[in-house]
Amino acid sequence: MSSSKGERAETRLIHAGEPEPRIAGAVAMPVFQSSTFESVEGEAYHDIGYIRLSNTPNHRALVAKLSALEGSEVALLFSSGMAAVTTSLLAHLCPGGHLLVGDCLYGGTHGFVFGLLEQFGVSHSVIDINAPETWESVLCEDSRVIYTEVMTNPLLEVADHDAVVRFAKAHGLISMIDNTFASPVNFRPCEIGYDLSIQSASKYLNGHSDIVGGTVAGRQAHLDPIKHHLDYLGGCMDPHQAWLLHRGMKTLAVRVGRQNANAQRLARMLAEHPRVCAVNYPGLAASPWHSRARALFDGFGGMLSFEPDTSSEGVDALLKALKIPLLAPSLGGVESLVTLPAKTSHAGLSTSQRDAMGLSDRLIRVSVGIEHIEDLIIDFEQALASMH
Ligand code: PLP
Repeated sequence: MSSSKGERAETRLIHAGEPEPRIAGAVAMPVFQSSTFESVEGEAYHDIGYIRLSNTPNHRALVAKLSALEGSEVALLFSSGMAAVTTSLLAHLCPGGHLLVGDCLYGGTHGFVFGLLEQFGVSHSVIDINAPETWESVLCEDSRVIYTEVMTNPLLEVADHDAVVRFAKAHGLISMIDNTFASPVNFRPCEIGYDLSIQSASKYLNGHSDIVGGTVAGRQAHLDPIKHHLDYLGGCMDPHQAWLLHRGMKTLAVRVGRQNANAQRLARMLAEHPRVCAVNYPGLAASPWHSRARALFDGFGGMLSFEPDTSSEGVDALLKALKIPLLAPSLGGVESLVTLPAKTSHAGLSTSQRDAMGLSDRLIRVSVGIEHIEDLIIDFEQALASMH
C-alpha cells in the first residue's frame, strides 16, 4: 500500500492506502467480500485473514488512508460510532476505574457512561469543559480516562482542548475525544496531543448518509487493548461497509470545505435576520467560542443551530416550509438536514433541564450540506417568512 503521495489532506485522501501495484490494474479498490482467507504456512492466530479480526484487504487499505489523514500511527475500524466509543472506553477502564467526562455528551455515549459503564463498576465525574481549574477536584486514584467531544451538540460550544491534553498528561490519564462534528479535515486531535481520536464514520467521514461505522485513531500502544476488545466483542466493520467508507472518504476534504463555507454564509444570514434571536456557530465572530475554534480548527464545520423568534407553532410552520433540508436526525451528509433537539436528541430531558443548559425548545439544529448556498439561503428566508 502507498502511505502518502502528498502532504495535504486532499491528496492523501485520494492516494494514501491505495494498493500498489493496483489489484488487477483496478483504479478503484475492489471489495473483498470474503469472510475468511487461505492460511499461509507458519501463520500466527492474529494473522489469520478473517473479517472479525479486521484484517481483510479492505480493512488494511482503509486504515492506511485514515491514519494518513488523522496523522496517527494507526487506526481501527468499527461497525458503528457507538462500537468505537464503547469498545475504546471498555478497553481502557476496569471495574473500580474512574472516568472524567465532558458535561454535554452525545446521547448514546451519555447513556453508556451513566448506565452500562456503571453496571461494569466504572464510575465517572462530569466536568465543566470550560473550567479546567475545577477538574483536579474530581480526580481520584482510580481516574484513568478523560473523555470529551470536539463541539457540544447542539450548542456548538468548543472545549478548551489544549487544557484537556495538558491535564491528561499531567495526571497520567488517557485522553479521548469524539471528533465527529469537526471531522479530521477541520481538526486532527492527535496532532495536539490527544491519545485517541474517535469518529462516527456515519457522518462526515463517509458523508453520504448510507452507512454507519466508527473509527479510532492514535498510537499503537493505546490501540492494542482496544483491538483486543474489538476482536472479542465483535463490533467489526464489514468489507462492504469499509469499501463504501473508503470511497466516501476520497471526497471528504471537498465536501467539508463546501460545508464549512455554506454553514458560515447561512449562519451569517441567520444572525442578521430580524426573526432569529440566537445563532450558535463557532465561525461567527460574535460566538464566545470563536477565538478558541480559530486557534484549534482549520474550518468551523457544517453544524449550526438557531432559535427563531416565534412560538412552537411558528417553529413547526418554519420546518414545514423548508423545501431543501430534510427533517431527519444524524448529520454530516451531502444533503442538509434539520432537527429539533428538544424533540429528538434531548427529548429525554425536562424543559427546565434543557433551559438550564441554554437549550430552548425552539432551537433548530442544521447539518449544512453541499447544496448551492444561494438556494439554501433563499429557502431559509422563505421559511422564516412563513412563521406566525
Ligand atoms: N458521536 C456523535 C457526536 C454522534 O452524533 C453520534 C451519532 O449521532 C455518535 C457518536 C454515534 O455514532 P453511530 O450512530 O455511528 O453509532
